[in-house]
Amino acid sequence: MIAALMPNYNRADIAFSHGAGAWIFAEDGRRYLDFGAGIATSSLGHGHKHLVRAIAEQAARVIHVSNLYRVPQAEALAARLTAASFADSVFFCNSGAEANEGLVKAMRRTHYEEGHPERTEVICFEGAFHGRTLAMISATGNAKYLEGFGTPVPGFAHVPYNDLEAVRAAITPRTAGILVEPVQGEGGVRPAAPGFLAALRQICDEHNILLGIDEVQTGMGRTGKLFAHEWAGIKPDIVSAAKGIGGGFPLAAVLASERVDTSLKPGTHGTTYGGGPLACAAGNAVLDIVLGEGFLAQLTDTAAYLRAALERLVARHPDIFTAVRGLGLLQGLKCAVPNGQAQAAALSAGLLTVAAGDNVLRLAPPLIIGTVEVDEAITRLDETAAALRAAKTNSEANAA
Ligand SMILES: *Cc1c(COP(=O)(O)O)cnc(C)c1O
Repeated sequence: MIAALMPNYNRADIAFSHGAGAWIFAEDGRRYLDFGAGIATSSLGHGHKHLVRAIAEQAARVIHVSNLYRVPQAEALAARLTAASFADSVFFCNSGAEANEGLVKAMRRTHYEEGHPERTEVICFEGAFHGRTLAMISATGNAKYLEGFGTPVPGFAHVPYNDLEAVRAAITPRTAGILVEPVQGEGGVRPAAPGFLAALRQICDEHNILLGIDEVQTGMGRTGKLFAHEWAGIKPDIVSAAKGIGGGFPLAAVLASERVDTSLKPGTHGTTYGGGPLACAAGNAVLDIVLGEGFLAQLTDTAAYLRAALERLVARHPDIFTAVRGLGLLQGLKCAVPNGQAQAAALSAGLLTVAAGDNVLRLAPPLIIGTVEVDEAITRLDETAAALRAAKTNSEANAA
């Protein structure tokens, strides 16, 4: 018999009942340190009083009004996001894939408005992840995600990540822009090479095409800046954000510079839920914390402490973990054992992590952690490595 929930996920057999800070508790009473944060989403951890109160108070007033009317919570959030970023205006929606759809539509529409309707193609990168809608599996380009879903949506080219020559060679008169993650999250926590984003900016300027940055995973403070592209010192034309932006409440955004945002005239794009009062109340509460005095500087210190501790972890267990890479509080451990096994062993050690591509174990803790939580995570990763080593030794003994 099939379960009532569709079987499209491989779920661990754990149900969580409640959480506090970076800790989350299962129904059976076990306690876990959450270094997955619901896939880089629960940015303020669990039970954050300011976020909980903002959501509860807004829910009691009004949950939904539609975009037929003004939404002051959205106006406030957009004003704060534009003041804190490159962007001149913001479109709100509900998921990362939807934000990327809006981003690609805005790119195409910009060229259309500028008299170049033929510029529809977006250059994407091998190893990317942009979401699961029909167009975004095509932007992602991973054969596994495309299989069985018909002809890929046209208009996406793929070149190797961090390969500027390949980007240059892929540009044609039909190119609308480039879509890039500052760190490929799902693809294995692979950061852009130094200078890569700045060079993409330059290429876009040379060809009058648009630089789009998918900050669904890297944005909203995850790397120590509000947006990861800030580390490269560049101004993109358009950016997508989601995951951490609502602290776990569904919310996403497309942030655009004036050149792009004026292309989306009334009637060109929309969503029923997007930018509603409740989601934007959550978004404003998250921003209160993330843009609070000293928060991102503190996060950067914690991230450096985590990174150094992970490097020592790799040095202690080179037979299990072979490298660490990432940016800020998005770090990946390259595994010498299957990363699914590493994720399961970490779970047994009471640590939530997320497997990523390229056999990487991803760590994306809530942004509110400090060195105490880092130390605790490292203890559990040491246990994880010991358990994996014991299992490896056992299976090698059995094979011999
Ligand atoms: C998770 C993710 C997406 C898709 O977001 P959804 O909310 O699952 O649609 C897109 N891009 C990146 C970089 C992501 O990490």
